[in-house]
Amino acid sequence: MDVLEGLDPEQREVAQAVRGPVCVLAGAGTGKTRAITHRIAYAVQSGIVEPQGVLAVTFTTRAAAELRQRLRLLGAPGVQARTFHAAALRQLSYFWPRVIGGEPPQVIESKLPLLIEACRRMRRNPDRGELRDVASEIEWAKVTQIAPEDYPGAAVKARRTPPIAPEEVARLYEGYETLRRERNLIDFETILELTAAVMAEHREVAGQIRQQYRYFVVDEFQDVNPLQKLLLDTWLGGRDDLCVVGDPNQTIYSFTGATPHYLTNFAVEHPSATVIRLVRDYRSTPQVVSLANRVISRSVHRLELVAQRPDGPEPVFTEYDDEPAEALGVALTIKKLMADGVPTRQIAVLFRINAQSEAYEQAFTEAGVPYLLRGAERFFERPEVRQAVVLLRGAARSGGDEEPLAPGVHAILSGIGLTAEPPGGGKAREKWESLKALADLAEDMGAEGADLTAFVAELERRALEQHAPPVEGVTLASLHAAKGLEWDAVFLVGLTEGMVPIIYAETPEQVEEERRLLYVGITRAREHLHLSWALARSPGGRRSRRPSRFLDGLSPRTTGAPRVERPAGGKKAAAPLHCRICGKTLTVAAEQKLGRCATCPADYDEALLDSLKAWRTAAAKEAKVPA
Ligand code: ATP
Ligand code: MG
Repeated sequence: MDVLEGLDPEQREVAQAVRGPVCVLAGAGTGKTRAITHRIAYAVQSGIVEPQGVLAVTFTTRAAAELRQRLRLLGAPGVQARTFHAAALRQLSYFWPRVIGGEPPQVIESKLPLLIEACRRMRRNPDRGELRDVASEIEWAKVTQIAPEDYPGAAVKARRTPPIAPEEVARLYEGYETLRRERNLIDFETILELTAAVMAEHREVAGQIRQQYRYFVVDEFQDVNPLQKLLLDTWLGGRDDLCVVGDPNQTIYSFTGATPHYLTNFAVEHPSATVIRLVRDYRSTPQVVSLANRVISRSVHRLELVAQRPDGPEPVFTEYDDEPAEALGVALTIKKLMADGVPTRQIAVLFRINAQSEAYEQAFTEAGVPYLLRGAERFFERPEVRQAVVLLRGAARSGGDEEPLAPGVHAILSGIGLTAEPPGGGKAREKWESLKALADLAEDMGAEGADLTAFVAELERRALEQHAPPVEGVTLASLHAAKGLEWDAVFLVGLTEGMVPIIYAETPEQVEEERRLLYVGITRAREHLHLSWALARSPGGRRSRRPSRFLDGLSPRTTGAPRVERPAGGKKAAAPLHCRICGKTLTVAAEQKLGRCATCPADYDEALLDSLKAWRTAAAKEAKVPA
């Protein structure tokens, strides 16, 4: 197989620059991830490195699983593609018994439970919201290698905005670390810190790790933090067979301590580096690319994108009266896209904070739109998938079937809820979609002649790699979680001041990070892009919200101050007419005649409309109940 096929000349240059240091600086959708995947496959195929000698570091477990899958298809299986944490944890667990000994520590994903306990010990009354922000401060301090006693000074210098006095944060940080050690727990930062420390203190461990990994590739290098950089340098141990790719305009984690400095400064740190720029955007239509270019037009990093794809629809900007109307409008537009043949797994709704997803979950349940929270992450941890795997494994062990794979698997899954028709929506629909994804995989593998034993082995391999089979459903995810991913249709919702930029973004740097977040969101769309916001939280509520400042000048609807037009009349204004579907005030004569706004589909479902009206009324009532 010619692994250089399907690459443009600059991407080929990346793939053929088999020896580091190499740095690829390029905008979104230019094929950075594709280029490094082919580069690894090319190096393996040319015998420059053994697959086991490669360590490819990506940002999420999902991205790592996709990279491994792509490498397998390119004929380079067995490459280690992991997140920093997963790679470090693997090494740490391997060396733990020999160099540290005793019970290996347990990994904690959240700092909150320990912080709550630390508060109690200090006789402090914990406020959950505050503590969440304190946890972020501790994460920042650990990532930037700042000890508790140095936190107050460092926080002021870095213009951090902790929710409580810096001295108090320092005390909680100290208390948290004490408890963590007492309980033999490690958080994500400690995993990296310990791995680097073990390598620094034990030469034979460092030697063994460096002997194994000789070829390093890091994706999304713009969001590397000082602790990750320290670990990477420790792995390299002075060697420079390193290839990094990134886009400084997509730095969206600097609040946690990440910095694009390592990327933009790469050629200074490595004077012999080959620096390659990619400008062709293969992901998005010219309409989406043009909008993306305008959002970052004032950035100091001039990485303009040149669209390669044919024309597509113009991005749609929609202002809604209230949040339920926005969720409903989005649900109905998605139904229209689905009716036009866009697969649900090619649609995503992206928001700024996770709390925003609730309105969409509700609207999608009502509208019968299948959805997945945060994509298909942790697929193999879902209860129905675990149960299915146990049953399938049991059947495989007992020699159950002999019969063709797909019907056999279908029969087993039917016993735990795989019905012929999907349930209406919500959790039941999510469960059904998981089981359907397993059944579809069995169908595909059965067609290739696999039996149940091979199917179970494939599931076990995928579970280890956290590589979910394609699950149907609209992805509901935060903008941060959408990094590196792409969909045919993307809805960026809740784009108001206070949300994007988020209310606590105070300094100009923080506001710029929010603008980059919008850029990341826009550049996830291949074809259809919808941007929306709502003026009030609930129906009949105060219309006090303003569209995001970042939209100024991008859409005709948002130039200057937002203006909500009212129908003209004599002294006494006529009662405003509302769209029958989304409830938006109708100001255009043609729309008033039709009784619906231009953005709502004409072929709406009457029964659905009734249930949504009932929901809007209930939401309005709830809004009037004092908190
Ligand atoms: P991001 O900055 O968002 O991570 P990226 O630069 O990593 O983006 P990729 O995800 O590698 O971009 O590629 C974007 C899309 O363009 C993918 O669907 C990829 O398959 C496609 N693509 C990349 N290069 C080419 C090419 N030379 N020909 C055709 N399609 C390409
Ligand atoms: Mg990428």
